[in-house]
Amino acid sequence: MNPLALARPELLAFTGYRSARREAGLAPVLLNANESPVARPGLAGLNRYPEPQPAALREALARHYGVARERLLLCRGSDEAIDLLVRAFCRPGRDAVLVCPPTFGFYAVAATIQGAAVIEVPLRGERLEPDLAAIASALDGGAVRLLFLCSPNNPTGQLLPEAAVAEALAIAAGRALVVLDEAYVEFSGAPSWAHRLPEHPHLAVLRTLSKAHALAGARVGALLADPRVVELLARLIAPYPLPRPSIEAALAALADPDWLAARVAVTVRERERLAARLRALPAVSRVLPSAANFLAFAVGRAEEVARGLAARGVLLRELRGQPGLSGFLRVSVGTAEENDAFLAALEAVLAELPP
Ligand SMILES: *Cc1c(COP(=O)(O)O)cnc(C)c1O
Repeated sequence: MNPLALARPELLAFTGYRSARREAGLAPVLLNANESPVARPGLAGLNRYPEPQPAALREALARHYGVARERLLLCRGSDEAIDLLVRAFCRPGRDAVLVCPPTFGFYAVAATIQGAAVIEVPLRGERLEPDLAAIASALDGGAVRLLFLCSPNNPTGQLLPEAAVAEALAIAAGRALVVLDEAYVEFSGAPSWAHRLPEHPHLAVLRTLSKAHALAGARVGALLADPRVVELLARLIAPYPLPRPSIEAALAALADPDWLAARVAVTVRERERLAARLRALPAVSRVLPSAANFLAFAVGRAEEVARGLAARGVLLRELRGQPGLSGFLRVSVGTAEENDAFLAALEAVLAELPP
């Protein structure tokens, strides 16, 4: 199946903006982009626009994710990939995205900005798994173009079972693009779905350097998908999405895989230590098992606890607006010292709360 059958038809012949670098590439004398011919002292190279899809980084990242280069689009964070997918696949006022809350909020935000409807099919049961029967009937409605799944899911932390993703792909075949957001997959120990892209032309996988790779400030993410989807989105993306310093930071990070492996191991160990300490607190009624670098936990009077922690200089995310998660807070795994500071502050806040 050609996944472009699901895209906005008016974009299929659209060429996009023809930037100087995209049109002409490089030459000894560059007088086609109105750049400064000289760089500032100490800022060599920044007088020139960067490559629209920097070849060296695309190659390195494709190798890192184990996909062919033409299946990878470099984006300004995976947030940009979400935005591009919605813009390419959803006609304003007609099409819809399907999300499974509680989940990452930006899918619905991007859809709303585009004028696409947001259909919610909440995760279900104690294990918070996708409700495949309800997803199937929502797809029967015919408006859904994108089905967003997040694994490990933010903010709950759980990895979606392989069978559930496979079933979602089967249900969506010919009807919607399945967007699998793997922002946290490095912390899960599970294989990425990236290597299964050739079997599923209607699968798109989102990856990012913002979390495990410690480059949130560089804004580098990737969409992995069928080459036809990559080619379509490459026509819609901003002319020069990645700044040169970000390209260099990403290349440096990818050249040091040992650092990543060591950080992931430390983070997973700290996550499990933090989970055990939280579970031992009588005021904490639940700690969701997490395959990510954060934990969602339920505590009595969660809002007051969050406020008390903030007053002690510890910021957590409150999950009160998320279906099924009232009374839950989400804590990111910090350094051992930060985690200890959080635990000490939490115990102090709980001791001070009037009964
Ligand atoms: C953090 C996060 C992202 C955003 O990643 P960027 O690459 O920094 O834009 C995407 N999806 C989920 C689920 C996230 O938690």
